Amino acid sequence: MEIGIFALQGAFLEHRQALEKLGVETTEIRKRAHFCDRLDGVILPGGESTVQGKLLKDEGLFAPLKEAIEGGMPVFGTCAGLILLAGKLTNDENVWLGTMNVSVKRNAYGRQLGSFRADLETAHIGAYPAVFIRAPYIESAGKGVEVLAEHEGKIVAARQANMLATAFHPELTSDLRIHEYFCNTVCAKK
Ligand code: GLN
Repeated sequence: MEIGIFALQGAFLEHRQALEKLGVETTEIRKRAHFCDRLDGVILPGGESTVQGKLLKDEGLFAPLKEAIEGGMPVFGTCAGLILLAGKLTNDENVWLGTMNVSVKRNAYGRQLGSFRADLETAHIGAYPAVFIRAPYIESAGKGVEVLAEHEGKIVAARQANMLATAFHPELTSDLRIHEYFCNTVCAKK
C-alpha cells in the first residue's frame, strides 16, 4: 500500500512519520507528476486551507484530486484538510474540493486561543487524545455522513464513503489508531 501525502504546506511530515511507523509506504505530493495512479489513498494535512487550496490550483493538482476523490480514492483530511473537503464553509465564501456533505466552521474555537487537547470517544476506535489547533468543527452533517466523534456537542470527526476527516491532528500524538483506521479502510477497498 502506498499513500500520497500532500506536502504543499502545513503538517505533512508528521503524517509521513505516523504512516512509516505503521509500515506504510508514503510519497509526498508537491507537483502534478507526484500524483500518480499507483497511489492507494491520499492525506490532506493541517495547515492553512486558503493557502493550500490556492497552491493545489497553482500546481494543477486541484482538478485531478477532486476527480480522484469523486471516483472513490480514499482520502483522509485533517483540520485544513477537512476544510478543503467540506461542501460548505459557514464563515468563509470559499468552497474548495466540496466533495464531503458537511458544513464546516473555520477557526471555530477562536483564532488565537484555539489550541487545546481533549479526550474524545471515537467510533470504531474508542477513547482518543485529540490535539486541536485553530480548529474547525462540523456544524452540520448531511446524508451519507457518519459522525465518528463529538466534542462538547460539536462534530469533530466524520466519514462519508471514501472520505475520512478530523478537525483535530492525529499526526501530532503518538497514538496511531486513526491512521491505522484509515489504512484499514484503504486495504479493505483494494
Ligand atoms: N485555521 C486553519 C484554516 O482555517 C486550519 C488550522 C489547522 O489546520 N490546524 O485553514
